[in-house]
Amino acid sequence: MEILILVVVIALVAVVAISGLVVTSRKKKQLPPAPPSAPTITAPPAEPQVGEDAAPPRDEPRRTIEEVELPVSADEAVAEPAAVEDPVVAAPPAPEIEVPEPTAGRLVRLRARLARSQNSLGKGLLTLLSRDNLDEDTWEEIEDTLLTADVGVAPTQELVEALRERVRVLGTRTPEDLRALLREELLKLLGTDFDRTVKTEGGVDTPGVVMVVGVNGTGKTTTTGKLARVLVADGRSVVLGAADTFRAAAADQLQTWGERVGARTVRGPEGGDPASIAFDAVKEGIAEGADVVLIDTAGRLHTKTGLMDELGKVKRVVEKHGPLDEVLLVLDATTGQNGLVQARVFAEVVNITGIVLTKLDGTAKGGIVIAVQRELGVPVKLVGLGEGADDLAPFEPEAFVDALIGD
Ligand code: GDP
Repeated sequence: MEILILVVVIALVAVVAISGLVVTSRKKKQLPPAPPSAPTITAPPAEPQVGEDAAPPRDEPRRTIEEVELPVSADEAVAEPAAVEDPVVAAPPAPEIEVPEPTAGRLVRLRARLARSQNSLGKGLLTLLSRDNLDEDTWEEIEDTLLTADVGVAPTQELVEALRERVRVLGTRTPEDLRALLREELLKLLGTDFDRTVKTEGGVDTPGVVMVVGVNGTGKTTTTGKLARVLVADGRSVVLGAADTFRAAAADQLQTWGERVGARTVRGPEGGDPASIAFDAVKEGIAEGADVVLIDTAGRLHTKTGLMDELGKVKRVVEKHGPLDEVLLVLDATTGQNGLVQARVFAEVVNITGIVLTKLDGTAKGGIVIAVQRELGVPVKLVGLGEGADDLAPFEPEAFVDALIGD
């Protein structure tokens, strides 16, 4: 009996021992395999975008994909002990300097923008010229189309006369013939041998000085900022003069443009003397050895005498340092005839050397380019094609006409 009890006890002990082994080994099997070490994937450096904040500083510690993807609530973030044993004190982020895009080929964008508009000047003319019967009524319609597109009376008459003569000589008209003919005649009106470069050479020891004038609201400050970007893109160093002390936000606006491309802005108190700011800006440009100084001015047209006094003074004072290289008149292309009136007033006050037509993206007309050049005898040098930082294009007559006529 005792022997039997002993055998039973031994048997029980053996069963317990074996089942313990199984459980232990099961437990081991249930353990998940060690995770493979997470790949270190760094986000590509963010492309600086217009209007976006600066990209994170480059010396930011690399983060694993989990750290990038898993959102951590603020509470958890606080509760987490600092994982980094050897903290690196991040340098304060340097102001991110943007690299503006090259200026070549920017005008092509106008084509895309006008392509959406069914009633652009060029397309309207082509449709009319393609009619089987080009009678007097049709020629009148062609004339009206040109006038409505702000081409101006004298250039319209010239163009209609030239077209009538050439269509008569041509006899049969294929769409290709008409397109070529219209292209040539529009180019003649725009003039292909104007020097449209923005002059910024300056003197031996002095920077090039460009004064930007125009009625407030036309896009003067924006254009000055965009022009700074164009110059920086071309490898020039720029100082900005915020001499529009009349409009409260103008100096801040200009400074922001400047900071984005690393250009210093010289400014004064609100309502301060524009001439002294302009003078100081050129002085700063000389001291810095800058290539170009761009001066934004105020354009209130309350009285012509006031404007004349102010701009005349700015010009005289700046010229104490040396001659101005350019006086650019900024006109809003959407204002049509009103723009021409402004052009006349400014031309009486200062010697305009180039025209900037802004907001061409906002009009399907485009004829104002022809009219304003005629009016002032001064070339359109730049055009504004939108509110984007790089939406300022050198004016090229061929690309402009191609944009007007479309494919
Ligand atoms: P300023 O008073 O003459 O200095 O005018 P601003 O530079 O402040 O510009 C007035 C407005 O016109 C702003 O909202 C600009 O973004 C806008 N603007 C300037 N140029 C262009 C352009 O080429 N196209 C469009 N669509 N808007 C423009």
